[in-house]
Amino acid sequence: MSDPTILQVAVNVPLSRLFDYLPVDGRNAAQPGSRVVVPFGRQKQVGVIMALANSSDLPMHKLRRCQALLDEAPILSASDLNLISFASDYYHHPVGEVVAAALPALLRSGKPLLPDLQCVAITAAGAAADVEALARRAPRQAELLQVLVDAGGNGMSVDALNELLPDWRRAAKPLLAKELLTRFTRKADWHPPVCDDIAVPGPDLNEDQKRALESLRSVSGYAAFLLDGVTGSGKTEVYLQLIRDVLADSQQVLILVPEIGLTPQLVSRLRQRLGIEPTVLHSGLGDAERLAAWRSAQQGLAQLVVGTRSAVFTPLPKLGLIVVDEEHDHSLKQQEGLRYSARDLAIMRARSSNARVVLGSATPTLETLQHCRSGNFTQLRLPARAGGALPPRLRLVDPDDGTSGDGLGVALTTAIEQQLRLGGQVLLFLNRRGFAPTLICTGCGHLAECARCDSRMTVHARDRSLRCHHCGAQTRLPDSCAHCNAAVKPLGAGTERIEDVLLRRFPGYAVQRIDSDSTQQRGAIEAALLAAEQGDADILVGTQMLSKGHHFPKLTLVGVVNADQGLFGTDFRAAERLAQSIIQVAGRAGREAQQGEVLIQTAFPEHPFWRMLISGGYAAVAEAALAEREQSHWPPFTRLALLRANAHRQGDALAFLQGVAELIADRRPATLRVLGPVNAPMARKAGRYRAQLLLQSSDRKSLHLLLATLRPALEAEPAARKVRWSIDVDPIELF
Ligand code: ADP
Ligand code: ZN
Repeated sequence: MSDPTILQVAVNVPLSRLFDYLPVDGRNAAQPGSRVVVPFGRQKQVGVIMALANSSDLPMHKLRRCQALLDEAPILSASDLNLISFASDYYHHPVGEVVAAALPALLRSGKPLLPDLQCVAITAAGAAADVEALARRAPRQAELLQVLVDAGGNGMSVDALNELLPDWRRAAKPLLAKELLTRFTRKADWHPPVCDDIAVPGPDLNEDQKRALESLRSVSGYAAFLLDGVTGSGKTEVYLQLIRDVLADSQQVLILVPEIGLTPQLVSRLRQRLGIEPTVLHSGLGDAERLAAWRSAQQGLAQLVVGTRSAVFTPLPKLGLIVVDEEHDHSLKQQEGLRYSARDLAIMRARSSNARVVLGSATPTLETLQHCRSGNFTQLRLPARAGGALPPRLRLVDPDDGTSGDGLGVALTTAIEQQLRLGGQVLLFLNRRGFAPTLICTGCGHLAECARCDSRMTVHARDRSLRCHHCGAQTRLPDSCAHCNAAVKPLGAGTERIEDVLLRRFPGYAVQRIDSDSTQQRGAIEAALLAAEQGDADILVGTQMLSKGHHFPKLTLVGVVNADQGLFGTDFRAAERLAQSIIQVAGRAGREAQQGEVLIQTAFPEHPFWRMLISGGYAAVAEAALAEREQSHWPPFTRLALLRANAHRQGDALAFLQGVAELIADRRPATLRVLGPVNAPMARKAGRYRAQLLLQSSDRKSLHLLLATLRPALEAEPAARKVRWSIDVDPIELF
């Protein structure tokens, strides 16, 4: 007898290991990539077989048996499992939780890949029945019978009948009793959505676009590119041409976008230009829709998949190209649970699938630029706007708003007035939602603070509340100070306040606010953006939600209300970030005939950052920042991992990380620097005390070797139970 097969199963629990099981009794066909139901402790869990083995560390008699094999054929391929293992190793995250992140909820909970369809069909007797005679006595029954005669032997699904004849069940009863009809279940089959659009040709590419496309076409197999093109330079046109090539080769294409709000415009453009219906995957889908989309990708039917970051895990057996649009965007990084960068996984994935990957941005990250310098990526430049539109003009203006204190200075107000008179559209950008960032007492100067966080409460005027943007706490907006009873007033300006000011100063013009408060309802973002795009709104005011990727044809003036917020940040990425957000929002202006103007309100016009940005653009800021990072040993010249911990009791998190630091001290490679532990910049959040420990290394390998031993040690550490802790590899937020 040959050695028994042992299944190594990934189970959705926070432990960094696989679990060994024996196959279901009498079933030896289980393969990696199939799901099984396994006993786990006293519970049952759905797991995925990651590998088969001949032996186990456990004695044979201790091995438990799988209770069920859920997939006869694997639902994850070797290449999908490879990506999952890579993500688990690289991010030092339990493999079972990575699998869970990669699967749609219905598969995670054990539902079949193909759902069972309830169907109704005619029997032989039904086919022979006299429909006309029946129509005289029972017209409803006759109608149903005729529909099913027309449908043929496969019958129709209950869902389809519900739609066609909402009242069909009543008519079906007697027909079923007479055995003219029969009910049964079968596996749903899936048809890719049909697209009615015929591909319309796009503009002829300009010289820069042609050169970029040529370079992209010149390789087959893995290669990574940065399409470094100013806003409106026609990056999307280049993707479209390349996508067309890849589809013509019968390969699949994955497009990753940072936000769901960016998908409608892109999807309709893809549909029109390619004449196929893109398969969309994002957090706004229902479970069944998500599974259907996932399945069509997994079966190779979906040719073009567009999704937000988690779509990077979608199985694509014929993957030929990944496009990561707006690669600099922070939404591509997941900041909780499995903390991964969809961009970085996309690159790894392209490499192992021997596919091309194109990162696109007008403001590429310094990490990506450094990859270009070192030759890992090919940098393709589109330095000018396509179709002849001029680049927007940047101008610094005084935020002086006289005595109004409402955030809109005289210079900006005048410019808005002018643009509106000329029939242009205006966008005001400000990274603060709510009415005002805090409430101050006019008597004692007390500021409204959150009881559970080290932070201020934001004033929200629409529902007269004070809200904490960190923990979600909410109270009624008070009329007077709780300490001295004097009057209170909002301090500073948020989007609601700017909206009010605009309505007051520019009566008769339509103002549209777009932030996460104004777009809570399903479909609200899409509707607001459509209104903006069609020019229904004269003035748009909003947060970064508005600044990304959109094309508003009529927009001629952008005002950055509070640019100084980012000027003195302590994070080593402050300059990069500020430059990205200014250039991105500026890029919304003047994308068609009229040149765009960008007014930046700042109290520090002499700051070297502004000089650099205005004279040299993003490239100058990036170059200076790269030099600085190299000198001070920050990424991309070193690698970081951030250990975070939080606990109910003050001191516990810090003590835990102190222990970790000591543990590391023993095995620390020479290249590693340990910074901290320290209290987090916001030391208390939602009632929990937070601390962090930063590991910095000049080489990736030794850092990862250390983390690989650290993780299991911490999982086994009793002191770790008192705290919640996490490892963030390549963190982009250091708090
Ligand atoms: P990006 O993705 O770089 O922001 P887009 O591809 O959206 O740029 O192009 C910006 C605008 O310029 C779009 O309206 C697009 O149709 C137009 N455009 C792009 N390439 C050309 C071209 N070669 N000739 C004329 N118009 C172009
Ligand atoms: Zn709070």
